[in-house]
Amino acid sequence: MNDNEIRFAADRMLGRLAKWLRILGYDVSYGRHLSGRGLIRAARADGRLILTRDRSLGRKHPPPFLFIESNDYVEQLRQVLRACDLRPGESLFTRCLVCNSQLQRRAKESVKKLVPPYVFATQERFSWCGRCQKLYWPATHQQKMLDALGKIIVA
Ligand SMILES: [Zn+2]
Repeated sequence: MNDNEIRFAADRMLGRLAKWLRILGYDVSYGRHLSGRGLIRAARADGRLILTRDRSLGRKHPPPFLFIESNDYVEQLRQVLRACDLRPGESLFTRCLVCNSQLQRRAKESVKKLVPPYVFATQERFSWCGRCQKLYWPATHQQKMLDALGKIIVA
């Protein structure tokens, strides 16, 4: 299974991990309904690997799952990358952090009325989530995320 094909279903205790996997561009189902049998159902329907902190899940005849050992999201992310042999990079910031949809590139001119003048003047790359109608651009917080991520992946 290569990096682009693997898909996850994260249980509701793993919100931070789910968000970070989306930042890396991975397809992650996540929501309040995803625990116990709801999680198993969702994973089976889409052929997703379950990520869970629920020790009892194994007794419910689940599809393949990864028991997440740590409470710390950095350790959790490391565990997933290692266990699935993932090398994130190219797909960074290609997925909506809110709804998991793939983002589309938007030409700079087309976003002029959608962003503050300062952002328009200083940013060149914009991405769009059609489902949330939300615009993304590489801003300071992304740089902070990248720095944090570098530490996670390298360490
Ligand atoms: Zn979205």
